[in-house]
Amino acid sequence: MSRVVGPKCRLCRREGMKLFLKGARCYAAKCAIERRQTPPGMHAERRKKKMEDYGLQLREKQRLKRLYGVFEGPFLRFLGRAEQQAGNTSENLLRLLERRLDNVVYRMGFASSHAAARQLVAHGHVRVNGDRVDVASYLVAANDEVAVAGEGLKERIAATLKAARERGGVAGWVEVSDDLKGTVRALPSKDDISLPVDENLVVTYYSK
Ligand code: SF4
Repeated sequence: MSRVVGPKCRLCRREGMKLFLKGARCYAAKCAIERRQTPPGMHAERRKKKMEDYGLQLREKQRLKRLYGVFEGPFLRFLGRAEQQAGNTSENLLRLLERRLDNVVYRMGFASSHAAARQLVAHGHVRVNGDRVDVASYLVAANDEVAVAGEGLKERIAATLKAARERGGVAGWVEVSDDLKGTVRALPSKDDISLPVDENLVVTYYSK
């Protein structure tokens, strides 16, 4: 399982936005973006300059990958699949990323970050329609039931779910019950996916 290593808040400061990489801390006043909006590095302020088209596209691509915690290889595979589907490639790409099992676990409120969700999946704690699935990139389908198993985990996951509900962090296209079972009511539409990223710039970046 690949994962983002190193100082995560630095990535947010680099992108100039919250990427929600650290769970509960991201929603607290301790968040580095809340405290300091400057890019990382001693001379970062001096290096700031107006970005050209290529730079903007590159940044949007990095932001999208980091928001979902996906590396270049898998990201390219998703893009290839999005291109093969009918319709708008950038919207197809977003919908595919949303359907990843680790993302669905996060959107259901069972984990406080994508990284925590990926760990739950990789450690075999997640069931899809009753079957154990330990592949984070597994794509869920409409009406799939996703549940977290493991007696020792219940209390922690229930607390995480409660916090997610309180901050409105459970997606509208899923339904979650108190017994830690969630159902994908319908696959997300473009309107269900609200991200601070221009996905069209991402596709343009790769189209050259
Ligand atoms: Fe990003 Fe979370 Fe760190 Fe804030 S606390 S800078 S959102 S990783």
